[in-house]
This record gives sequence, C-alpha cells and structure tokens, in this order.
Amino acid sequence: MKPYTVSRALFEEALRMIPGGVNSPVRACRSVRRDPVFILRGEGPRIYDVDGNEYLDYVGSWGPMILGHADPDVVAALREAAGRGASFGAPTELEVDMARLICALMPSIESVRMVNSGTEATMSAVRLARAYTGRDLLVKFDGCYHGHGDAFLVRAGSGLATLGLPASPGVPEDVARNTLSLPYNDLSAFEGLMDDAGDRVAAVIVEPVAGNMGVVPPATGFLETLRRRTSESGSLLIFDEVITGFRVALGGAQERFGVIPDLTCLGKILGGGLPVGAFGGKREIMSRLAPEGDVYQAGTLSGNPLAMAAGLCTLRKLSARGVLESLESESALFWEGLRRCGTETGIAVEVNAVGSMGTLFFTENPVRNFQDAVSCDGERFIRYYGALLEQGIYMAPSPYEAMFVSVSHGREDLERTLEAVRKAFQGLR
Ligand code: PMP
Repeated sequence: MKPYTVSRALFEEALRMIPGGVNSPVRACRSVRRDPVFILRGEGPRIYDVDGNEYLDYVGSWGPMILGHADPDVVAALREAAGRGASFGAPTELEVDMARLICALMPSIESVRMVNSGTEATMSAVRLARAYTGRDLLVKFDGCYHGHGDAFLVRAGSGLATLGLPASPGVPEDVARNTLSLPYNDLSAFEGLMDDAGDRVAAVIVEPVAGNMGVVPPATGFLETLRRRTSESGSLLIFDEVITGFRVALGGAQERFGVIPDLTCLGKILGGGLPVGAFGGKREIMSRLAPEGDVYQAGTLSGNPLAMAAGLCTLRKLSARGVLESLESESALFWEGLRRCGTETGIAVEVNAVGSMGTLFFTENPVRNFQDAVSCDGERFIRYYGALLEQGIYMAPSPYEAMFVSVSHGREDLERTLEAVRKAFQGLR
C-alpha cells in the first residue's frame, strides 16, 4: 500500500471546514481508529484512492452501486440526461417512466412519490401514516435505521450504533415520546405492545431484513405477525426497503418473504448512485398527499432528471433475465466461503446474509437482534478491518453494517477476497 499522504492532507483541510471532516458520520472511520481514505474514482467492483491504492469495494456507496461503479450504460444515460438540462422543477417523462417501473416491480405500490433521500422517504411516509390514521404513535425496532428524521433517532442502528449514541440531543422530548422501540424479531414484546396500545399506533416501521445493525434476517413469523397485528389495529405497516428494495429480490423483501406492507420506502439502488428516495403504497393512502389531499410534502429537486435517468438504467439492467439470480448464487458461495474461513482458522464467526447483503459477526452465537449484534467482539473487528484494508479490500468501517456484493464482482474477485479474509483471520489468532 502506498502511504496515505494525499488523503491525510485532504482530511486535515476538511476538518477545518466540515464537521468531523465528513458529510456523513460513519465515513470518518473513527470507530476503527483510522482516518478516512479519499476516493478518486471507481470502476466495476474496484475503487481507487487519491494516493494511488486500489481496492475491491464491498461498501458500494452503502448499497446503491449494485451494478458496480461507473457502469458504462449508467454513465451514458447520465451524459444524455445532463445534455438536456439538469433540472426544471416541472414534470418530465422520466418521472412517469420511473413511477411505472416501480409500480410494476412492487405491486403493493399503486402510487408513488419521488424524494431525494431515504431520510425524506421515511419522514414523509410517517407523516402520511399519522395523518391517515389520525394517531401519533410510531413503533420501530432497536438497531433499525430509518434515516436521521427526529422520530427515528431512538435506539437507531448504523452511525448511531457505531458511535454508541442511544439517541440524539436536539430531538424534542415531545417527539421522542411518540416513538416506541422494541427488540427486533421479538414477537412477544411486539404483541404485548399492540395488546396495550395498538389502537393508538399510527404505524409500525421496519427494515424487513435489517441492514443497519449488520444484516439480521427476519425470524420466521416476524413480518407476518407485524402484518396481522397492524391490520387488526388499523395501524399502517411501513417497510423501509431503502436497502432491500431491488436487492433481495426485484420486488424487495416484500416479494421475497411474501408479506405486503401498506407503505414502502425506497432509496439507494433506485437512484443508481444519485441522490434519490421514494415512498409509495395503496392509492387510498397516497391520495392524502398534496395536491390531491391535505398532507403537505414537496421538493425542488424531487424526480430530478439525472437521478431518474441513472435509476431507470440501473433498474432496467437489474431486471434483465438472470441478473439478480446470478448475483444471488455468486453471493451465496461467498458467504459460505466466509464461514469456511472461520472454521479453517478457528475464528468464531457468524455470517448472516440474505441475497447479496451480508455481515460477518465475530461471535459464537446467532445474531438475531441489536443486543446480539453489540455483544460481538469489537476489538477483533477493528483488527480485521485494518488487515483487509491493507490487502486492498474495502469494507464498511463498522461492525454494524452490511457488505454488499455487486453484479460486477467476478468469481475471481470474490475468491481473492476470501484469501484476504483467511489471512486476516490468521493474524487474529
Ligand atoms: N432507511 C434505511 C434502511 C437506510 O439504510 C438508510 C441509509 N443507510 C436510510 C433509511 C436513510 O437513507 P439516506 O441516507 O438516503 O437518507
């Protein structure tokens, strides 16, 4: 590895002007006791830093880059769209194309509104759910992350988990009081809450496969119980498919697990790497949004032509026959390979995975919820992270995140990664 001279200089300058030197907290790499690497460019599964180092990337911009970096078709679509003008603040055909494609891929979505980030999608969906039900309470699950809206920053995953923050100052007590957070996959806790307060619950929001405490799949019956009890109490079920949408199946976790929410939040892959989010669902609920209804929600850049072009191209390529299936089977071999690295070197690991998203936890025990995830060996993770980076493998700098395999990762890339993992494990003994 070449020394991080340019990265370090850029970070020092960034620290003077940008809080923590980064525009999103986990990028600072504090939890792995490092400074961030500054990226120059990416191509397929590889990224290149400003100091001339090359990495195989398993962050994929935290999920969006399912085709790999700078996919030639996406780049061409972007060039063409940019040549026609970046934004008009008036309707374009691309937005209709996007709505049609989303509704076709996710039949639970009859009507959809584009926004600019996953955070906007979840915030707007909850406002709509509250208006529709005339109730205030929101139920979420510990370790799930739904963006940085006030209502969600209670026992949240991702960056808050990484930084060890139970919640955020600046969220009014009055807001936090309306959010109830329960252990993920805990059916009896959920049923108990719904017995007591179901008639006051506006919405239950969940990552149908958790990705922000590391990957934690839903236990048998978990999503089904959420569906049944919300229907019974007149509460809305919101699936936050910002990560899982178009990844665990084209139709998201709702297709894969056969549980249909009232509202769905989307982001990441939907924008092909550009800033995008969306939320949608039953027409009857969505029609409460302005200008059709009285619930206000808006955005200067919503449905932005560049974002629509990149997203449409990405979704169309993913929809081609066999693409997701092959990603899924290559990924399955990879997760199995990671488990084997553990057995062969005597390092205790649990690998949770659904499709092309997975997390390696340093533990002997199954990881079924946030409590299990935070009980894993954090020191071991830090050493493992460093050992992989030095071998040119770029992972999320936190034990509470997913690894994302992309369509562009070839078998030989995945095998080279397994070699690096084996070597890293040998250094941990
Ligand atoms: N929901 C989930 C499940 C997420 O993983 C994220 C971001 N990691 C968000 C919402 C928020 O999305 P954004 O960062 O685009 O605001």
